Amino acid sequence: NSSLERIEKTKNLNAFITVTKQTAVESSQNSDVRYKMKKPKSVLDGIPIAVKDNFCTKYIRTTCGSKMLQNFVPPYNATVCQRLLDAGATLVGKTNLDEFAMGSGTVDSLFGATKNVWNLENDSNDFHISGGSSGGAAVAVATGSCFGAFGSDTGGSTRNPAAYCGLVGLKPTYGLISRFGLIPLVNSLDVPGILTRTVDDCVSLLNVTAGPDCNDSTCISKPYRSIRIPPAAQLSVKNLKIGIPREYACENLEDEVLQTWNEVASLLEESGATLKEVSMPHTELSIVCYSILNQCEVASNMARYDGIQYGYRADENSSTEQLYAKTRSRGFNSVVKHRILTGNYFLLTRNYEKYFEKALKVRRLIANDFDNVFEEVQMLLTPTTLTCAPLHSKFIQKSNSEQCSQQDFCTQPANMAGIPAISIPIKLSKNGLPLSLQLMGRNLSEPTLLALAKFIE
Ligand code: GLN
Repeated sequence: NSSLERIEKTKNLNAFITVTKQTAVESSQNSDVRYKMKKPKSVLDGIPIAVKDNFCTKYIRTTCGSKMLQNFVPPYNATVCQRLLDAGATLVGKTNLDEFAMGSGTVDSLFGATKNVWNLENDSNDFHISGGSSGGAAVAVATGSCFGAFGSDTGGSTRNPAAYCGLVGLKPTYGLISRFGLIPLVNSLDVPGILTRTVDDCVSLLNVTAGPDCNDSTCISKPYRSIRIPPAAQLSVKNLKIGIPREYACENLEDEVLQTWNEVASLLEESGATLKEVSMPHTELSIVCYSILNQCEVASNMARYDGIQYGYRADENSSTEQLYAKTRSRGFNSVVKHRILTGNYFLLTRNYEKYFEKALKVRRLIANDFDNVFEEVQMLLTPTTLTCAPLHSKFIQKSNSEQCSQQDFCTQPANMAGIPAISIPIKLSKNGLPLSLQLMGRNLSEPTLLALAKFIE
């Protein structure tokens, strides 16, 4: 009840697209019965959770923030949702996102922008963005409307809003959590991401949802072993080698972020870790490489929305071609249409080698940078974003591609390599907004990554 009350009280922030009030009440009543019988299903039994509105939920509308899917009701659950329900969790609602998760601000949703909860009172006509594209999920957790939430992360969409809203945001190793039922953006980069207030909460959500899934062929088939992080007092960073990649100290990195990065590095050193400056020369290619891969996969993924099988259908019946054209031109926003058009251009026979194949090679170089540094160090410490949450009025002056190229500089490379990365809140900036840092480790290094995150927390 208090979760539903909090959702109601903070609805002006626009974190939720759909609140699943009735099913939430029923589900928590069932949990009550299990607790009375002393038989909770898991640590998450009865716990309120929200999921981004690009995860399919059986008989619950799943919109992707788009007119195209405004009235789409899936007949099945995404694996993430099914595992949460099997663990007894209570789904409180579906959260706002940039249309089809294309964005870094949650400013491009059919349902309007999501407002950050921080510093609202200072700017009555304006507000700080929540970050994105999983901004609704982040604000739902930050307001206490739920215990944790699932977002998705293709280039930073979980870590970016976590950083702006002062939360823990985990992008797990590619394939550790199933993508089945997560409406795809870029299949080769997408992962479900976890947003919580603490690292321990994040571990609880990971343990319930990770592991093999025969419905997702890219899911890691090795059985998942639950992670247990010792209490903070028992954690140590002695013998840990942490790399500081110099290329992440990039142009446009705000002084306060740089300072926070230095402070945390010094604190880790004082606590016994070895810090080492390392170089990852292909880092700055990540943004351009990503934009080609993203648009190619988008062009292919969006082809399914033709108005025939499901989703929006234009009332145009002069010809089948016209029906397709009108459906797609009215159903998608300009960001999605732009990516479809450029993606199809890159995929033309005459361009394929020049762009798509080239981008795949560059992606390999970016991943190799990580392989090389992980020979020298176990973890990397970097900023998550270059600044604190920008004001909405300033942010929307830039085009979607400018927004992403600035916001995602530090987060995208991890998706290129498939490695795990986590954003952790560190402190507040001078003007009262969260400042966060990112840790990255080699594939499947979640136990060390989360332990170090908890140590810093
Ligand atoms: N900002 C990036 C994009 O728009 C990443 C989005 C994401 O991670 N879903 O593609």
